[in-house]
Amino acid sequence: MGSGTSGGVPVIGCGCPVCASADRRDKRMRSSLYVKGNSGERIVIDTGPEFRLQALNSCIKHIDFVLITHTHADHIHGLDDLRQLSRAVPMRVYVSEGGADDIRERFAYIWRKTQRGGGKPRIDLRTVTGPFSFENLDITPVPVKHGKMDVLGWKLRENSGTGHIEAAYITDCSFISEESLSLLKNISCLILGALRMNSHETHFSFDEALETVKRIGSPRLSKVFFTHIADEHFHAEIAEYCARWRDKNDMLNTEILPAYDGLEIDL
Ligand SMILES: [Zn+2]
Ligand SMILES: [Zn+2]
Repeated sequence: MGSGTSGGVPVIGCGCPVCASADRRDKRMRSSLYVKGNSGERIVIDTGPEFRLQALNSCIKHIDFVLITHTHADHIHGLDDLRQLSRAVPMRVYVSEGGADDIRERFAYIWRKTQRGGGKPRIDLRTVTGPFSFENLDITPVPVKHGKMDVLGWKLRENSGTGHIEAAYITDCSFISEESLSLLKNISCLILGALRMNSHETHFSFDEALETVKRIGSPRLSKVFFTHIADEHFHAEIAEYCARWRDKNDMLNTEILPAYDGLEIDL
Protein backbone atom coordinates (compact mmCIF):
# COMPACT_ATOMS: atom_id res chain seq x y z
CA MET A 1 0.00 0.00 0.00
CA GLY A 2 3.06 2.21 0.42
CA SER A 3 6.65 2.03 -0.82
CA GLY A 4 8.37 5.10 0.62
CA THR A 5 10.93 5.88 3.26
CA SER A 6 10.16 7.56 6.60
CA GLY A 7 9.37 11.03 5.25
CA GLY A 8 7.41 9.81 2.25
CA VAL A 9 7.97 11.00 -1.34
CA PRO A 10 7.47 13.81 -2.24
CA VAL A 11 9.28 15.09 0.84
CA ILE A 12 7.74 18.21 2.40
CA GLY A 13 9.51 21.29 1.08
CA CYS A 14 11.74 19.35 -1.34
CA GLY A 15 11.72 20.34 -4.99
CA CYS A 16 14.11 17.67 -6.30
CA PRO A 17 13.29 16.05 -9.68
CA VAL A 18 11.99 12.83 -8.06
CA CYS A 19 9.72 14.74 -5.66
CA ALA A 20 8.48 16.78 -8.63
CA SER A 21 8.05 13.75 -10.92
CA ALA A 22 4.72 13.28 -12.69
CA ASP A 23 5.17 9.48 -12.75
CA ARG A 24 2.73 8.11 -10.17
CA ARG A 25 5.23 5.36 -9.35
CA ASP A 26 7.45 8.10 -7.88
CA LYS A 27 4.81 9.02 -5.26
CA ARG A 28 5.72 6.97 -2.22
CA MET A 29 3.56 6.78 0.88
CA ARG A 30 5.07 5.17 3.97
CA SER A 31 5.76 1.42 3.53
CA SER A 32 2.93 -0.98 4.21
CA LEU A 33 1.48 -4.23 2.89
CA TYR A 34 -2.07 -5.60 2.65
CA VAL A 35 -2.23 -9.39 2.30
CA LYS A 36 -5.23 -11.29 0.99
CA GLY A 37 -5.06 -15.04 1.54
CA ASN A 38 -6.91 -17.43 -0.74
CA SER A 39 -9.13 -18.55 2.13
CA GLY A 40 -10.26 -15.01 2.86
CA GLU A 41 -7.53 -14.11 5.35
CA ARG A 42 -6.90 -10.35 5.48
CA ILE A 43 -3.75 -8.98 7.11
CA VAL A 44 -2.02 -5.62 7.19
CA ILE A 45 1.70 -5.25 7.90
CA ASP A 46 2.47 -1.86 9.50
CA THR A 47 0.04 1.01 9.97
CA GLY A 48 2.00 4.14 9.08
CA PRO A 49 0.75 7.73 9.09
CA GLU A 50 -1.10 7.22 5.76
CA PHE A 51 -2.89 4.05 6.83
CA ARG A 52 -6.33 5.63 6.42
CA LEU A 53 -5.62 6.73 2.84
CA GLN A 54 -4.03 3.39 2.04
CA ALA A 55 -6.97 1.45 3.46
CA LEU A 56 -9.35 3.53 1.34
CA ASN A 57 -7.20 3.06 -1.78
CA SER A 58 -7.12 -0.70 -1.23
CA CYS A 59 -10.86 -0.87 -0.43
CA ILE A 60 -10.18 -2.49 2.96
CA LYS A 61 -13.42 -3.34 4.73
CA HIS A 62 -12.18 -5.84 7.25
CA ILE A 63 -8.86 -7.18 8.49
CA ASP A 64 -8.18 -10.16 10.74
CA PHE A 65 -5.08 -8.70 12.39
CA VAL A 66 -2.06 -6.45 12.02
CA LEU A 67 1.62 -7.40 12.06
CA ILE A 68 4.14 -4.75 13.10
CA THR A 69 7.76 -4.77 11.93
CA HIS A 70 8.96 -2.16 14.45
CA THR A 71 7.77 0.92 16.25
CA HIS A 72 9.36 3.78 14.30
CA ALA A 73 6.77 6.49 13.63
CA ASP A 74 6.55 5.76 9.89
CA HIS A 75 5.38 2.20 10.67
CA ILE A 76 2.86 2.66 13.47
CA HIS A 77 1.54 6.20 13.66
CA GLY A 78 -1.63 5.30 11.79
CA LEU A 79 -2.61 2.83 14.50
CA ASP A 80 -5.44 5.08 15.66
CA ASP A 81 -7.24 4.55 12.35
CA LEU A 82 -7.80 0.91 13.30
CA ARG A 83 -10.76 2.44 15.12
CA GLN A 84 -13.13 1.80 12.23
CA LEU A 85 -11.90 -1.78 11.87
CA SER A 86 -12.09 -2.71 15.56
CA ARG A 87 -15.70 -1.81 16.34
CA ALA A 88 -16.99 -5.39 16.50
CA VAL A 89 -13.91 -7.15 17.84
CA PRO A 90 -10.69 -5.67 19.31
CA MET A 91 -7.98 -5.73 16.64
CA ARG A 92 -5.12 -8.09 17.29
CA VAL A 93 -1.78 -6.35 16.73
CA TYR A 94 1.27 -8.62 16.76
CA VAL A 95 4.52 -6.97 17.79
CA SER A 96 7.88 -7.81 19.38
CA GLU A 97 8.16 -7.66 23.16
CA GLY A 98 10.00 -4.30 23.25
CA GLY A 99 7.65 -3.03 20.55
CA ALA A 100 4.61 -3.74 22.72
CA ASP A 101 6.05 -1.51 25.48
CA ASP A 102 6.66 1.28 22.94
CA ILE A 103 3.09 1.09 21.65
CA ARG A 104 1.61 1.12 25.18
CA GLU A 105 3.68 4.19 25.98
CA ARG A 106 3.06 6.10 22.76
CA PHE A 107 -0.63 5.25 22.53
CA ALA A 108 -1.29 5.28 26.29
CA TYR A 109 -4.70 6.94 25.78
CA ILE A 110 -6.00 3.77 24.16
CA TRP A 111 -5.74 1.86 27.44
CA ARG A 112 -6.75 4.75 29.70
CA LYS A 113 -10.33 4.72 30.98
CA THR A 114 -12.24 7.57 29.32
CA GLN A 115 -15.85 8.46 28.65
CA ARG A 116 -17.88 6.26 26.35
CA GLY A 117 -17.93 7.30 22.72
CA GLY A 118 -14.42 8.65 23.07
CA GLY A 119 -13.50 7.38 19.61
CA LYS A 120 -10.58 5.14 20.38
CA PRO A 121 -9.39 2.03 18.57
CA ARG A 122 -9.73 -1.24 20.46
CA ILE A 123 -6.33 -2.89 20.35
CA ASP A 124 -5.55 -6.42 21.49
CA LEU A 125 -1.75 -6.21 21.68
CA ARG A 126 -0.05 -9.61 21.26
CA THR A 127 3.64 -10.15 21.90
CA VAL A 128 5.19 -12.41 19.30
CA THR A 129 7.30 -15.23 20.65
CA GLY A 130 7.51 -17.42 17.54
CA PRO A 131 5.60 -18.71 14.52
CA PHE A 132 1.81 -19.00 14.67
CA SER A 133 -0.99 -19.98 12.30
CA PHE A 134 -4.24 -18.40 11.20
CA GLU A 135 -6.67 -20.25 8.89
CA ASN A 136 -4.43 -21.48 6.03
CA LEU A 137 -1.55 -19.14 6.76
CA ASP A 138 1.58 -19.87 8.76
CA ILE A 139 3.16 -16.68 10.02
CA THR A 140 6.82 -16.57 11.05
CA PRO A 141 8.65 -13.58 12.52
CA VAL A 142 12.08 -13.12 10.93
CA PRO A 143 14.44 -11.21 13.28
CA VAL A 144 16.70 -8.75 11.44
CA LYS A 145 18.84 -5.72 12.34
CA HIS A 146 17.83 -2.13 11.54
CA GLY A 147 21.09 -0.45 12.51
CA LYS A 148 21.48 -1.43 16.18
CA MET A 149 17.76 -2.01 16.57
CA ASP A 150 16.22 -5.50 16.54
CA VAL A 151 13.19 -5.51 14.24
CA LEU A 152 11.00 -8.13 12.60
CA GLY A 153 10.47 -9.19 9.05
CA TRP A 154 7.48 -11.44 8.42
CA LYS A 155 7.29 -14.65 6.42
CA LEU A 156 3.86 -15.84 5.32
CA ARG A 157 3.25 -19.34 4.07
CA GLU A 158 -0.04 -20.32 2.54
CA ASN A 159 -0.99 -23.98 2.54
CA SER A 160 -3.27 -24.74 -0.34
CA GLY A 161 -4.57 -28.04 -1.67
CA THR A 162 -1.78 -28.28 -4.22
CA GLY A 163 1.24 -27.21 -2.19
CA HIS A 164 2.40 -24.07 -0.53
CA ILE A 165 3.49 -20.54 -1.30
CA GLU A 166 5.95 -18.61 0.86
CA ALA A 167 6.61 -14.90 0.75
CA ALA A 168 8.46 -12.52 3.03
CA TYR A 169 8.22 -8.83 3.88
CA ILE A 170 11.39 -7.30 5.29
CA THR A 171 11.46 -3.53 5.32
CA ASP A 172 13.84 -1.38 7.41
CA CYS A 173 16.88 -3.65 7.55
CA SER A 174 20.66 -3.35 7.40
CA PHE A 175 21.71 -6.90 8.37
CA ILE A 176 20.23 -10.40 8.19
CA SER A 177 21.90 -13.22 10.14
CA GLU A 178 22.48 -16.66 8.62
CA GLU A 179 19.84 -18.04 10.96
CA SER A 180 17.18 -15.63 9.73
CA LEU A 181 18.33 -16.10 6.15
CA SER A 182 17.71 -19.82 6.48
CA LEU A 183 14.03 -19.07 7.18
CA LEU A 184 13.83 -17.58 3.69
CA LYS A 185 15.20 -20.46 1.64
CA ASN A 186 11.86 -21.50 0.16
CA ILE A 187 10.29 -18.11 -0.52
CA SER A 188 9.05 -17.32 -4.00
CA CYS A 189 8.46 -13.63 -3.33
CA LEU A 190 10.42 -11.12 -1.27
CA ILE A 191 9.58 -7.51 -0.50
CA LEU A 192 12.78 -5.96 0.79
CA GLY A 193 13.70 -2.50 2.06
CA ALA A 194 16.23 -0.73 -0.22
CA LEU A 195 16.63 2.95 0.55
CA ARG A 196 18.90 4.46 -2.10
CA MET A 197 22.15 4.02 -4.03
CA ASN A 198 24.44 5.39 -1.28
CA SER A 199 24.98 3.39 1.87
CA HIS A 200 23.11 4.22 5.09
CA GLU A 201 23.65 3.17 8.70
CA THR A 202 20.26 1.59 9.24
CA HIS A 203 18.99 0.60 5.78
CA PHE A 204 20.18 -1.55 2.89
CA SER A 205 21.38 0.36 -0.14
CA PHE A 206 20.28 -0.97 -3.54
CA ASP A 207 23.53 -2.99 -3.87
CA GLU A 208 23.24 -4.42 -0.34
CA ALA A 209 19.64 -5.42 -1.01
CA LEU A 210 20.68 -7.09 -4.29
CA GLU A 211 23.51 -8.95 -2.54
CA THR A 212 20.94 -10.15 0.02
CA VAL A 213 18.80 -11.53 -2.80
CA LYS A 214 21.84 -13.48 -3.96
CA ARG A 215 22.60 -14.69 -0.42
CA ILE A 216 19.08 -16.06 0.03
CA GLY A 217 19.68 -18.19 -3.03
CA SER A 218 16.18 -19.67 -3.10
CA PRO A 219 15.70 -21.47 -6.42
CA ARG A 220 12.01 -20.61 -6.15
CA LEU A 221 12.56 -16.90 -5.67
CA SER A 222 10.89 -15.47 -8.75
CA LYS A 223 9.77 -12.02 -7.56
CA VAL A 224 11.64 -9.38 -5.58
CA PHE A 225 10.33 -5.88 -4.92
CA PHE A 226 12.18 -3.05 -3.23
CA THR A 227 10.28 -0.92 -0.73
CA HIS A 228 11.04 1.95 1.71
CA ILE A 229 12.58 3.92 -1.17
CA ALA A 230 13.94 7.48 -0.77
CA ASP A 231 13.53 10.43 -3.16
CA GLU A 232 16.95 10.10 -4.79
CA HIS A 233 15.97 7.97 -7.77
CA PHE A 234 13.09 7.64 -10.21
CA HIS A 235 11.19 4.37 -10.31
CA ALA A 236 12.29 3.86 -13.93
CA GLU A 237 15.97 4.36 -13.04
CA ILE A 238 15.86 1.81 -10.20
CA ALA A 239 14.09 -0.71 -12.43
CA GLU A 240 16.81 -0.33 -15.05
CA TYR A 241 19.57 -0.68 -12.43
CA CYS A 242 18.02 -3.91 -11.09
CA ALA A 243 17.64 -5.32 -14.61
CA ARG A 244 21.32 -4.70 -15.36
CA TRP A 245 22.31 -6.36 -12.06
CA ARG A 246 20.19 -9.43 -12.90
CA ASP A 247 21.90 -9.80 -16.27
CA LYS A 248 25.37 -9.42 -14.76
CA ASN A 249 24.64 -11.90 -11.97
CA ASP A 250 22.88 -14.43 -14.14
CA MET A 251 19.67 -14.33 -12.11
CA LEU A 252 17.24 -14.19 -14.99
CA ASN A 253 14.66 -16.36 -13.20
CA THR A 254 14.22 -13.68 -10.57
CA GLU A 255 12.26 -10.56 -11.44
CA ILE A 256 13.63 -7.63 -9.39
CA LEU A 257 11.77 -4.34 -9.41
CA PRO A 258 11.08 -1.33 -7.22
CA ALA A 259 7.59 -1.49 -5.71
CA TYR A 260 5.18 1.42 -6.04
CA ASP A 261 2.08 2.44 -4.13
CA GLY A 262 -0.92 0.35 -5.11
CA LEU A 263 1.17 -2.41 -6.70
CA GLU A 264 -0.61 -5.76 -6.57
CA ILE A 265 1.47 -8.93 -6.51
CA ASP A 266 -0.35 -12.10 -7.45
CA LEU A 267 1.19 -15.31 -6.14
ZN1 LIG B 1 10.80 3.03 8.21
ZN1 LIG C 1 12.63 2.21 10.90
